[in-house]
Amino acid sequence: MEFDLIQKYFVPLSHTSNMDLDDLFIGDDGALVTPVADAQLVIVTDTLVEGVHFPVGSASYDIGWKALAVNLSDLAAMGAKPAFYSLALTLPKVDQSWLNGLVQGLADCASPYSIPLIGGDTTRGPLTLTVTAQGWVPKGRALLRKGAKAGQGIFVTGFIGEAGRGLSLALAGQCADKAADLRSLSRLNRPVPRVELGCALVGVASSAIDVSDGLLADLNHILVASNVGANLRTADIPLSKSVQEWAGDQPLKPLCAGDDYELCFTASLDKAEQLYGLAEQQGVKLSQIGLISQQPGLLVDGVALDLKQTGYNHFSG
Ligand code: ADP
Ligand code: MG
Repeated sequence: MEFDLIQKYFVPLSHTSNMDLDDLFIGDDGALVTPVADAQLVIVTDTLVEGVHFPVGSASYDIGWKALAVNLSDLAAMGAKPAFYSLALTLPKVDQSWLNGLVQGLADCASPYSIPLIGGDTTRGPLTLTVTAQGWVPKGRALLRKGAKAGQGIFVTGFIGEAGRGLSLALAGQCADKAADLRSLSRLNRPVPRVELGCALVGVASSAIDVSDGLLADLNHILVASNVGANLRTADIPLSKSVQEWAGDQPLKPLCAGDDYELCFTASLDKAEQLYGLAEQQGVKLSQIGLISQQPGLLVDGVALDLKQTGYNHFSG
């Protein structure tokens, strides 16, 4: 059963054009990959558990898309060019049309980067997907969380809180027909990793992270790793009108919502023009939302914030 399943659904995902002749993917006991000269391999893993990372009953296409997208977002945050990925899949049962959807979601998410599926594991149990993605970055040039310096700008791509709003719509089980609702749900279910921009930030940004647990919590990782602080201006944080309405009298709500998969990074202000140029070329919205300060801690509009009260925590619910 398992062998047929792998042949039918997963082997097709291993066929891409950019394969080295000596490389060997699905079918042997391990994948065989030829390293790229003068590069370092960035390896990232993310697990999606039904009912925790996506609502029970989500479309399998969206699950496949998101499982890969969240990993590519981690690669983007490191400035790495995606190279290949593997999939450990735990399934409660074999459902052909469900699997077709999953494979299509993976295929569509991988397609812009022509990355092959190089292996994995398939087991029976509660629905869980673990994708490991790997990408190349020029040796010694990866973007890290450390490196932010006082006086540098803090930038963020896209719009913040959109997926958080999408999650509350999904959990409320409302039928979404308004364009704004569909956009929020699409940000939740099919995040678009900022891969090209991440790669272009190598040598330009001083630190970077992808926003998966909430902008404030993730920015704080940069601050701690870099031993600096930040002063954010909420008026400059890109929020759609519908997200502002969703936040109501809780302006920090979108900044604590997870699943944005945007990039947050720092760079010297003399690079700002170059950065806006790069983002525009790629059709990605870019906003400067604040400045790095010498003094550790996070100020929002000049007011110190207690970060323990922000961010989504898997263990505190
Ligand atoms: P083994 O028993 O040696 O661990 P498996 O029977 O688990 O091998 O897997 C056989 C081949 O199929 C391996 O190349 C493995 O990487 C691949 N494979 C298994 N499950 C998946 C999956 N979900 N996605 C991609 N490749 C898979
Ligand atoms: Mg084996």
